[in-house]
Amino acid sequence: MATASLRIDLDAILSNWRALDALSGPQTESGAVVKADSYSLGAARVAPVLARAGCRKFFVACAEEGADIRQAVGETPEIYIFGGHAAGDSDMIGDLNLIPLLNSPEQLNRHFEALPGKPFGIQLDTGMNRLGFEADDWFKAAPAVLHAGPKLIMSHLFCADTPEHPANLAQLTEFRRMTEGMNVPRSLAATGGILLGKDYHFDVTRPGMGMYGGLPFAEAKPVVTLSLPVLQVRDVHPGETVGYSAAWTAEVPSRVATVAAGYADGLSRRLGNAAQVWFGDVPCPVIGRISMDLITVDITHLDDTPREFDLLGPRQGVDAVGEVIGTIGYEVMTSLGHRYERHYVGGAS
Ligand SMILES: *Cc1c(COP(=O)(O)O)cnc(C)c1O
Repeated sequence: MATASLRIDLDAILSNWRALDALSGPQTESGAVVKADSYSLGAARVAPVLARAGCRKFFVACAEEGADIRQAVGETPEIYIFGGHAAGDSDMIGDLNLIPLLNSPEQLNRHFEALPGKPFGIQLDTGMNRLGFEADDWFKAAPAVLHAGPKLIMSHLFCADTPEHPANLAQLTEFRRMTEGMNVPRSLAATGGILLGKDYHFDVTRPGMGMYGGLPFAEAKPVVTLSLPVLQVRDVHPGETVGYSAAWTAEVPSRVATVAAGYADGLSRRLGNAAQVWFGDVPCPVIGRISMDLITVDITHLDDTPREFDLLGPRQGVDAVGEVIGTIGYEVMTSLGHRYERHYVGGAS
């Protein structure tokens, strides 16, 4: 097999979703964030597993993603769109019964004009300054909005991965001020907010990364294994170089394995001469430049010749790889390319 393979453990995703659900207690309903194709893991496979386990609210970034989720989970679950009701999306939102989280007076007007009586939610800005109604606009619009019966009012925390950051309490206070007494289901917490404790849970939570096995949910079960098959092994003499730009030079007689994956698969060039891959329990340095389709690995210290290495797995998750290249696990995971053979295990609930 000459294609790198991505093994996705659907049972681990489900177990992480349930573990996060248990943290927020029985009064709070756990939704699931499946935007960006479930963070690249394949929403068409992930979402139905969660739906069968009782998840009734899915969250995506835009209407097109919502259409894919509708196809995957059928007509019953609610599908919320963080980006709201964008120009040109009215037909798709109406036909597929998607629920836009309206972000501005402009979106509110668009929704009420194009799809009167159709479900919607509201996104409030409580300090992130990214998406959502500002307080002034919101209090002006609130009477008409509340009369129309929004399904959900939400906001998003911007420092939830740093529990002691004062912005968390400031946003919580602002969210309460903007929603007090409105008698509409409320949602504030993504994975980080769930871990902040019950004040942040409200009626609905929106876990994403924690389900998929990454920080800030440190107790998450690992979900992905990325295995890179060996295409060729060679001996390299001292003084010879490996790969583009001669970025690695053998200092001793060396053995080098070439594996099938590269930056076209979403593996950053910054992994070159910096990361390691795993042969069972043994780490092996990635040497030289990352090519478009190939990576070279120093296996001088191994007795065996591996058939494949793991770049992601229980010993090295997306957060560890992110640390090597100066980014977060979220970016490593959502960069995972389309060329991998995705293998799914579990998920038959
Ligand atoms: C992506 C996103 C989430 C999920 O965040 P995680 O940190 O992955 O749990 C929740 N809410 C909003 C608004 C988001 O954009």
